[in-house]
Amino acid sequence: MSSLVSEVVRRIRKVLPDATKFYALHEPTFIGHEIKYVSECVTTGWVSSAGKFVNQIELQLAEYVGTKRAVAVVNGTAALQIALVAAGLKPGDEVLVPSLTFVATANAVVHAGGIPHFLDTEAGGLNIDPSQVSEYLTTVATVLNGQCRNKLTGRRIFAIIPVHILGHACKADELARVAESYQLRMIEDIAEGLGTYLYGKHVGRFGKLATLSFNGNKIVTTGGGGAVLTDDEKLADSIKHLTTTAKLPHQWEYAHDHVGYNFRMPNINAALGCAQLERLDQLLAKKRLLARLYARAFEGLDEVRLLEEPKGCRSNYWLNAISLVGPDKAIRDQILKALNEEKIQSRPLWKLLHQLPMYLDAPRALIMNAIRHENSVINIPSSPFLVDGV
Ligand SMILES: *Cc1c(COP(=O)(O)O)cnc(C)c1O
Repeated sequence: MSSLVSEVVRRIRKVLPDATKFYALHEPTFIGHEIKYVSECVTTGWVSSAGKFVNQIELQLAEYVGTKRAVAVVNGTAALQIALVAAGLKPGDEVLVPSLTFVATANAVVHAGGIPHFLDTEAGGLNIDPSQVSEYLTTVATVLNGQCRNKLTGRRIFAIIPVHILGHACKADELARVAESYQLRMIEDIAEGLGTYLYGKHVGRFGKLATLSFNGNKIVTTGGGGAVLTDDEKLADSIKHLTTTAKLPHQWEYAHDHVGYNFRMPNINAALGCAQLERLDQLLAKKRLLARLYARAFEGLDEVRLLEEPKGCRSNYWLNAISLVGPDKAIRDQILKALNEEKIQSRPLWKLLHQLPMYLDAPRALIMNAIRHENSVINIPSSPFLVDGV
């Protein structure tokens, strides 16, 4: 083992001292009212498509993020899909998405009938960069009759989906200005960003819509689940309607006015989420402390740095990550192998989406920075319970 590899293992061991234990990348804990609320669903029979916890989680989410409304749905991918449809995406429209994100961001565009158009990320962080996006759009797009067109494909570019990668806020304020100047809708994918703030404002409040995920590996889980957030009451009503089979309210009649979706979050999942949300501030405090412990452990090692929150951002540190200062896939893989063998679960970033087989023909910007990040970043265990005393 090279000395750098063993040094990385040694430093992570300082934070995760028990060599007999398996440390997962991110695990939920259910130590609050989770069992109480879920058993309430079971004992009352309200486990499925109606019940008080769905309304309750929607209120809790809107209050936490600071939007007027939240609509709970089955997962984060469905949340993105319905957000695009409700915002007015038409079949064949292009949607700008980062190449460096979880595959769901692009898949949702396709499910909604659109075509993902991939962007590079910034040099110094993992998010898309407003000035780079703006520069790219001056070369590839024109605005005609209030619509943005791709000059090369002739298709409409309808929207942009910035993602707050690993919980670190992207420059959503500046991206919103770029989006506006190109007549693009902005939908923030805050699946990884619950509890993350940019200039004191919760992420998800910079665009027209935002989407969350409550998958088992996210900060707050409902088992599986997601939500769409917006300040636009009409849009929220229409999303609620569309995601509940577009059924018209009636005491007994099955009347529907659209080809709706069965995307409603079941009550039993919402119950779990309500209890999790009560503990969110505590979870966030623990995650920030864990990030500080990792940062301290890596002090003075020049070849590796811990990814830290960018300027103006208060990060939720969803997944901690170390980055090789000199990108090198072979060393990255040696470190991954050594850590996993030590039962310290660690993972690289996602494979870049523009290189996946189903997206090889998708339009894209020149992607360079994201490749360097792919070859240098390693996610390390980040469960909030890894630190005590908060
Ligand atoms: C988790 C995640 C999603 C999808 O959420 P699911 O609930 O798994 O469908 C979307 N985007 C990003 C960036 C994610 O991390």
